[in-house]
Amino acid sequence: MLDIKWIRQNQDEVQETANQKGIAISVDRLLEQDDKRKLLLQEVELLRRERNEMAPRINAFLQQQDIVNADRMRLEAKALNRRLSDMEGEYRKAEHEFNQLMLYVPNRVSPDTPQGLSDQDNVEIKRVGEPAVISFEKRDHVALGELHRMIDIPRGVKTAGSRHYYLTGPGVLLHRAVQQLAFDLLMDKGFTPLEVPLMVRTDALLHAGHFPLSQDQTYKIEDEDAWLVGTSEVPLLAYFNGDIVDVTEPIRVAATSLCFRSEVGSAGKDVQGLYRVHQFAKVEQVVICEDSLEQSEQLLQEITANAEELLQLLELPYRVMAVCTGDMSQKTYKQMDIETWMPSREAYGETHSSSNITDFQARRSNIRYRDTDGKLRFCYTLNNTAVASPRILIPLLENHQEEDGSIRIPQALRKYMNGLERLRV
Ligand code: AMP
Repeated sequence: MLDIKWIRQNQDEVQETANQKGIAISVDRLLEQDDKRKLLLQEVELLRRERNEMAPRINAFLQQQDIVNADRMRLEAKALNRRLSDMEGEYRKAEHEFNQLMLYVPNRVSPDTPQGLSDQDNVEIKRVGEPAVISFEKRDHVALGELHRMIDIPRGVKTAGSRHYYLTGPGVLLHRAVQQLAFDLLMDKGFTPLEVPLMVRTDALLHAGHFPLSQDQTYKIEDEDAWLVGTSEVPLLAYFNGDIVDVTEPIRVAATSLCFRSEVGSAGKDVQGLYRVHQFAKVEQVVICEDSLEQSEQLLQEITANAEELLQLLELPYRVMAVCTGDMSQKTYKQMDIETWMPSREAYGETHSSSNITDFQARRSNIRYRDTDGKLRFCYTLNNTAVASPRILIPLLENHQEEDGSIRIPQALRKYMNGLERLRV
C-alpha cells in the first residue's frame, strides 16, 4: 500500500511501474475515485453539522412553547437525517471502491532494478562455484530418487494428483537435514524462531500484499475464512500486525513451514520431477527495520548472503540475479533471486528469492516504530528463503552424484544424517 498523497505527486511513476509489473490499473481512475470520496465526505460532514445544530434550535422553540415551529423543525430534521443516511451510504460505497483500487497499486521499484518483461530479462550479478563437468552418463534427480528409493512421484500422483510426491527413507532424511542446517544457520545469525499457523485469515494475506493479486495461487478452506499459506512470510509478518515495534536493532524472525501453492497458470511448465509442486517445505527469513533505504539495502544483502552461505555449505554452484520489473511482484521494491546449477536442466534454476518490500506491507499491516523524535513511522520489511525443499534436492542429488549412482553427502549435512558420507547404491 502506498500513501495516496505520494501517489498523487508521482502519478506518472506509479502508472509506469504498474505497466512494467503487468498490473492493470489506471492511476487517473484511482485519483478520480479519491476526489469523489473526499467530496462525498465533505457533504456528509456538512449535513452532520446542520443536523447537530437542529437539536438546540428545536429545544429553544419548545422552551418558548412555540410548538408549531418546533414541529416544523422536527420534520426538517427527519428529512435531513434521511438525506444524511443516503449520503453516508454513498460515501461508504465510494470509500470501499477507493480502497479496492488501492489494493492493486504496486510498490515503486528501486532505481537499480533492471527493466524487463520476464525472468529472461533478469541480470546476472555474480556466479559462485563452477558447475562440475560430469563425464559419465548423468542421472536426473527423479532417476537418482528411484535408484535410492527416496522419491516416489507415481504414488504421490496416485494419492493426491499431479505435482505431488512421496519422499521415503533417505529422501526424508535429506529433506529434513537441509531444513535443519538452514534453521541452525539462522539461529547462529540471531534470528528468533517462530512456529506459525499454516492456515490464515484473508486479512493476513491482504496485509502481506499477497492478496488480491495472488489469490488464485492460494488454497481456500471451504466455508471458513481460512487459507493454506503459500509461505510462512505471511504468518511471520502477521505476528506483528498493528504493533508499535522496537527496531533499534532490526527484528529478525524465521520459521520452518509447509507451503501450499495451486500453481494456477503453470500448466505444462516444469512438470517433470520435484521442481514445481503443490506442497513443499521452506525455511523463511523475515526482517523488520526502520524506514531507511540505506539500512534496508544492507539487510537485503545480509539475508541474501545467509542463503549464499547455505549453498556454499551444500557445496553447490549458484548465481545471483537482479530481478527485473516484469518478474517482480506487486509489493516488491527490489528483488534478488539465487539460481543453483541443476545438471539435468543444464541450467541454473531458481532456489531462493530475496526481497526488499520497503513500507508496502507495514502500511497494510500497520506495523510502526517511534523514531528518535518520538514520531510514529511505518517500518520496512524484507524476506528471503533460507532453503526450500524438495526443490533444493534437485541440485543436491544431481551435483553430488557419482558414476555408480551413489551420492556424496556434503560435510555440513553429515551431522544431520547420522554421519553418513554417501548414499550408496
Ligand atoms: P517464493 O516464496 O515464491 O519467493 O519462492 C521461494 C522459493 O520457494 C523458490 O525459490 C523455490 O525454491 C521454492 N518454491 C516456490 N514455489 C515452489 C513450488 N511450486 N514447488 C517447489 N518449490 C517452490
